[in-house]
Amino acid sequence: MPFVSHPGLPGKVYVPEIHPGIPKKHPCANCFSCQHCGDDRCQVCRSDGRTEDVLSQAKTVKENTVSTSDLYDLIIVGGGPGGFSAGIYAMRAAMKTVLIEKGAPGGQMTLSGEIENYPGVEHIGGPDLAMKFHEHAQAYGLEMRFQEVREIEPGRAYHSARLEDGTILNAHAIILATGGNPRKLNIPGEDTYYGKGVSYCAVCDGFFFRNKTVVVIGGGDSAAEESLYLAKLAKHVYLVHRRDTLRASKILQQRIQAECKIDVIWNSIPLEILADENGGVASIALQNVKTNNRQNIATDGVFIFVGFKPNNMLVPAGVRMNADGYVVTDDKCETSIPGLYVIGDLRQKYARQIVIAASDGCTAALAAAHYVENRKAADAENACQLI
Ligand code: NAP
Repeated sequence: MPFVSHPGLPGKVYVPEIHPGIPKKHPCANCFSCQHCGDDRCQVCRSDGRTEDVLSQAKTVKENTVSTSDLYDLIIVGGGPGGFSAGIYAMRAAMKTVLIEKGAPGGQMTLSGEIENYPGVEHIGGPDLAMKFHEHAQAYGLEMRFQEVREIEPGRAYHSARLEDGTILNAHAIILATGGNPRKLNIPGEDTYYGKGVSYCAVCDGFFFRNKTVVVIGGGDSAAEESLYLAKLAKHVYLVHRRDTLRASKILQQRIQAECKIDVIWNSIPLEILADENGGVASIALQNVKTNNRQNIATDGVFIFVGFKPNNMLVPAGVRMNADGYVVTDDKCETSIPGLYVIGDLRQKYARQIVIAASDGCTAALAAAHYVENRKAADAENACQLI
């Protein structure tokens, strides 16, 4: 029955029949349970009351005690192309802004060998483009803190970010630009031989496989790009894909075909990564999904590029996400919580590209500037009425 009762909502509401379970992190106390539902018709996910529930749980005592001089206009979490773009636009809008990044500036860009599709830049290394974003933001005087954000707490008056050293930063608006992480195969040997031949980054580890044989798993842009990168270093590259056509863009497919050092092994899935007596990767067991035949490919390394998972750990309860854990926003990149924006690879969208993350950053920063201006105007009006 798609119409059911649901805690926190009056009467019977539409809920899809196949509805994902309740994430352990968010027990269903106030209708927070449905954040992983991908069905747009689900009235629990769409309930306006849900956002109210989230905000009403915010710590109102603290809200009344923060002085406006301690308050940022905007906190940006994540220093990839989206975060830096947001920072640049926020500084140009004269917003008091801080960007917080837990690792090196640049995010996933730093793991990309060659970038050839960022408009206006015909060819650049990933780490170099990352540095350019960083320097551009620095030139505008963007405040940056390099540590991990542990929690985002939405509030009625302002939102808060708790950092790993216990510091709490407050702002009228927050932009989450936390991106994603490489997806794993979850096969035997993957974790055991990580760093001993198993890798998720050709740019970082390719050097160790000069004149050796490597296997790349995946069929998307990353697998194709990284195979081409590895072909420049390695003796031979086997690209293993589970179907008979690559998902990668046509231009990359053509380059793969033209590269004599790359052999594609079609319709095959990896079963196990095996090691030699020294504990280094020696071979990978594959199974053909059409014939069920198994084969072992001798290899020195296995590079895995099978997509990635959005980093949604900081997304507060009540924010709407799709079934894959990407945050659903409006066209201003605003989530179901006012003043909380999500950009880049964490946001549900058609394609995940550097240029799109940068564009999201622009959109969210401009929207946040407008939001903060309105908030301040409303606060000033309320203050006048109290006098
Ligand atoms: P992706 O496009 O999601 O591709 C993942 C690939 O891994 C797919 O071919 C998929 O097979 C395969 N796969 C998934 N799970 C698997 C499993 N358990 N076993 C074997 N194979 C598995 O991921 P991506 O290549 O990392 O790219 C992510 C996004 O970034 C994409 O939007 C991509 O266009 C973008 N990107 C762009 C560039 C660029 O433009 N320069 C570079 C890198 C990435 P199926 O095809 O059968 O699903």
